[in-house]
Amino acid sequence: MARETPPLISKSRYLSGLLCPKLLWCHYNDREIFPPVDPVRQAIFDQGHRVGEMARDLFPGGLLISGERHRAEEVVPETHRHLPLRVPLFEAGFVYRNAYARVDVLEPVEADRWDLYEVKSSTRVKNEHIPDVAFQRHILAGAGVEVRSCYLLHVDNQYVLQGELDLGRFFNAEDVTEETAGLLPAIDDDLERMTEVVLSERCPEVGIGVQCTSPYECSLKSVCWDFLPEDSVTTLHGDRAKGFKLLERGVTELRELPEDVFLTGKQRIQVEALRSQRVHLSRPEVQQFLAGLEYPIHYLDFETFMPAIPLLDGTRPYQQIPFQFSCHVVGSPQGASEHHSCLAEESQDPRTGLLAELRRAIRPTGSVVVYNAPFERGVLRDLAATDDDLFDWWEDLDGRLVDLFAPFRSFHAYHPEQHGSASMKDVLPAFTGLDYGHLPIADGMAASTEYFRVTYTDVPEEERVRVYRELREYCDLDTEGMMRIVERLRELVDNEWLTDSKVKG
Ligand code: SF4
Repeated sequence: MARETPPLISKSRYLSGLLCPKLLWCHYNDREIFPPVDPVRQAIFDQGHRVGEMARDLFPGGLLISGERHRAEEVVPETHRHLPLRVPLFEAGFVYRNAYARVDVLEPVEADRWDLYEVKSSTRVKNEHIPDVAFQRHILAGAGVEVRSCYLLHVDNQYVLQGELDLGRFFNAEDVTEETAGLLPAIDDDLERMTEVVLSERCPEVGIGVQCTSPYECSLKSVCWDFLPEDSVTTLHGDRAKGFKLLERGVTELRELPEDVFLTGKQRIQVEALRSQRVHLSRPEVQQFLAGLEYPIHYLDFETFMPAIPLLDGTRPYQQIPFQFSCHVVGSPQGASEHHSCLAEESQDPRTGLLAELRRAIRPTGSVVVYNAPFERGVLRDLAATDDDLFDWWEDLDGRLVDLFAPFRSFHAYHPEQHGSASMKDVLPAFTGLDYGHLPIADGMAASTEYFRVTYTDVPEEERVRVYRELREYCDLDTEGMMRIVERLRELVDNEWLTDSKVKG
């Protein structure tokens, strides 16, 4: 049953409405359809809230309006009661027509004007921040509050923590007054259109598209994308937009791609492998890659967390802080593997113990195989930077890194069950049959969130022990998986019949 009176449209609903009318309609008329917020997303929200609260300390003497209450009926009158005080106001709320905005910080300037601050935990101003601030500015103007300037207060990722957090250097204020001005004239029309959508009895029909994943993943994606088959046109490597155009033409299955569709080299490999159900292997290139591996071969993987608010001296906001590694070492072609691992179980600096263990695990010679080398390269560089004496060790190690991602990123090796992706999470099950499905922690984001939660917050000891065990299982599988992938590539290179055989059917 659709509503009859226009509802209040808050800033977050307005932004949803700009993205997709279906999303907006569901927010007001079909709340049950939304899947629960997963722990990783929740942790990101929580981090954003912590950053927002910290920013208030930049405005001494400020007043928080209505605490954590959000109802406009309470917030708006209280805001208007406090405006004459001419002190910074946090979470002040205003209504104009049927739109409602709360402002992170309003700072009094001149005799009767205000500067508006929107706090973001991002490290720069992003395109999607501009309509966010413009909406607030528009509502404030409508409510009779004169705004002089609008600022986006974001995190400065060049700031290095030394001792106490210096908020003045941690945050960076960028003036976005001009950028928002261009959007103001359209907001009333937007709101009118959105009100019609919300009052409509039927959910608008909207096809899936780029708006589902950009600027962020829509919370209804799992619902709206549910109809897609496993090998849909949206899996076409490196070009989702092409997939959406094909959907509009009524083509859903990748194997039924019309002949007139232009495909890149990688996309041709993907479609051909899918249709033939055969592994694609550029034998000379993969052979060359394998020949470059020197024994003892180390398979190395780090898990990291990246707190917006730095915890350790000498680190920057969002710096990757390693807390765990796994390393399988294979000494010779027929030799068994040796396993080394380390997980920092203390809430102090995890890097010290990790470094010591890593130096024991890595032998003086041999390749160090990683998956997606820029990440591990950066982690190793930052680790080595904690001690001046480690420069030579790091330089040698850096020169021995080999990226196992390379033959997959280039599609020199491609399995039809990768579904267009070269990520380890897709390559591993496709090539080896091993997968992460049975693990409670099955990706890097979950690992990072869980580690941070059980190490830096108060949880029962048995939960901490359980999560640490799950983290070990996850990270160990990453390096064992790399080892198995290399073994499988060797088999495929040496046995042509394997690539001639169908993987299925
Ligand atoms: S998943 Fe896409 S189509 Fe569905 S509501 Fe979100 S943005 Fe709209």
